[in-house]
Amino acid sequence: MIDRRHAPTAVRSPYRALVTEIDWADGHVGKYPHEVLRGYCPCAGCQGHSAEIKFVGGGDTSIKTIEPVGDYALSFEWGDGHATGIYTFRYLRSLCRCDECVPPAEKDARPVLPRS
Ligand SMILES: [Zn+2]
Ligand SMILES: [Zn+2]
Repeated sequence: MIDRRHAPTAVRSPYRALVTEIDWADGHVGKYPHEVLRGYCPCAGCQGHSAEIKFVGGGDTSIKTIEPVGDYALSFEWGDGHATGIYTFRYLRSLCRCDECVPPAEKDARPVLPRS
């Protein structure tokens, strides 16, 4: 059985938006500031082969396209053409920055994350 926490039902990323929303099957509405999505790109080019994922600032944070990868992940193409990050649904869920997942006082924190 699939874990509803890791099953997206809708992705909203309007042109020029700064935040993408993902609805999850358990009813959670995830908020994903594009700066956070880009900075936590999990690809080897951004992260090397570290077991952890760190925030890497400075990349283009406009989203050109969002594509499904199989039935387990999304990939984002950024304004500068970077598109090698595969964001598994489990990983995406962990990046959520809604008030429930990350209290407002901690919104600017950029902790190192485990690979999941
Ligand atoms: Zn990357
Ligand atoms: Zn959340």
